[in-house]
Amino acid sequence: MPLVVHAIPAFTDNYIWLFHQPDDHKAYVVDPGDAKPVLEVLDKLNLSLEGIIVTHHHPDHVGGIDQLLETSPIPVYGPEGIPQITHILKDGDALKLDPISFDVLAVPGHTLDHIAYFSATEPLVFCGDTLFAGGCGRLFEGTPEQMWHSLSRLAGLPSETLVYCTHEYTEANLKFALAVEPENKTLQQRVLQVQLQRQQRQPTVPSTLAVELSSNPFLRSSQPSVIQAAEQYSGQVTMSESDVFTIIRRWKDGF
Ligand SMILES: [Zn+2]
Repeated sequence: MPLVVHAIPAFTDNYIWLFHQPDDHKAYVVDPGDAKPVLEVLDKLNLSLEGIIVTHHHPDHVGGIDQLLETSPIPVYGPEGIPQITHILKDGDALKLDPISFDVLAVPGHTLDHIAYFSATEPLVFCGDTLFAGGCGRLFEGTPEQMWHSLSRLAGLPSETLVYCTHEYTEANLKFALAVEPENKTLQQRVLQVQLQRQQRQPTVPSTLAVELSSNPFLRSSQPSVIQAAEQYSGQVTMSESDVFTIIRRWKDGF
């Protein structure tokens, strides 16, 4: 039976992911920026929190950890540098939890400590603020080249992988994607679908990697349409996929 994953809305547009096996009360939470909504869901669903998983150090991903640890001293998994982490994870590590196992991928760019958790059995990836539905995270600490490399690693996962990112940014991301690729039919259809989902107040996350590969400009730097758009925007004749990515990331920052 597939893993049950709950989207817990937090702040204005964050999702905290809570998962468990359908027949088990043991739950894990990913990036709890706030404890209160997590505790409410645990209580409502009669689940017990067995561990906390963290992708990077930003407050909207770690701010709820202390309060969640008040009730029981459960393990906290994540990258080095976050004080509450009890099990430091780095690229290539495996995280074996009772309901599911993950491969840890270093995905620097948004921050330098950022890691993602890929499970081949579902398959799914918790990718924090690296790959978003229709977009990608801002570059606060890393270089565009680092982010491009990180996104390329995620792009290489199986196309049916469910992409669990941390923010409901999809509608705005797709507006930008349309500016880059106005003729992309798959993207046009996705825009309509996402508009409908948002009108009905449904999450647009998770998407699949296949959907991202066909409509997210930040994974499409090798596509002629995206190269052409980047060349037009920048006035440069671009060279590498990483250069194209760098230009459209800068373009999005000012969009
Ligand atoms: Zn962040």
